[in-house]
Amino acid sequence: MTTIAENIQVVQERIKDTCERSNRDFKTVKIIAVSKRKPMSDIQEAIDAGLQHFGENRVEESQEKIPQLRSDKTIIWHMIGHIQSRKAKHIAPLFQFVQSIDSVSIAEKLAKTIIDYEHKLDVLLQINISGEASKSGLNAYNWKTDASVQSRLLQDIQQILQLPCLNVCGLMTMAPIVNDIEQTRPIFADLAKLRDELQQSLSLSLPELSMGMTNDYSIAIEEGATMVRIGRAIFGERNN
Ligand SMILES: *Cc1c(COP(=O)(O)O)cnc(C)c1O
Repeated sequence: MTTIAENIQVVQERIKDTCERSNRDFKTVKIIAVSKRKPMSDIQEAIDAGLQHFGENRVEESQEKIPQLRSDKTIIWHMIGHIQSRKAKHIAPLFQFVQSIDSVSIAEKLAKTIIDYEHKLDVLLQINISGEASKSGLNAYNWKTDASVQSRLLQDIQQILQLPCLNVCGLMTMAPIVNDIEQTRPIFADLAKLRDELQQSLSLSLPELSMGMTNDYSIAIEEGATMVRIGRAIFGERNN
């Protein structure tokens, strides 16, 4: 058994190697340590090893965990899971960053809960590139060739951009589970391409690309990821 600190070091080395190979500055890649189902003691070990960004995907679990570390202002909590509309009101008080805006309606619900307009909530738009029905996200399957997918997507994104208290910083996606991880590359490349197109056609800046998890983060970084969401490689396997 390796310790969490050792695991983090391995991940950081691999990120550095990957960045070197692809001519990127490794400081442009943030590790989001996905701490779901893991105890506070594990999170504390990761903080002690220097990590600052943590990801959770369930509201109840986050309500248990996040307040315990509230006094540590350096930690940034990322919501990475699907948000049910009746739980939207709990999100903004807990998280600094929401990566899983997967519909116009959840964006609107979330926006309504933010009373303090001086603090916009940083968000990413979750995009379903692979077209898998099991994945949430704004549909972008075949966006390059399917004009109706493209116009619907643009319409949805424009509606979200109009919401005053959400700060849209970029895109997030989940690759399908595959046998050969090289098969994830076209998905990540496609998300990067979509980001470029959106920046152009909507004249806005979308600097963040959240893509890549334990199995495929190197490939995601090669394709431009600025955030990698890593659970098992840091904290070990989950039981549920
Ligand atoms: C669980 C989860 C991860 C982390 O997955 P690992 O394979 O443990 O690295 C990343 N992103 C999302 C959205 C998740 O739910």
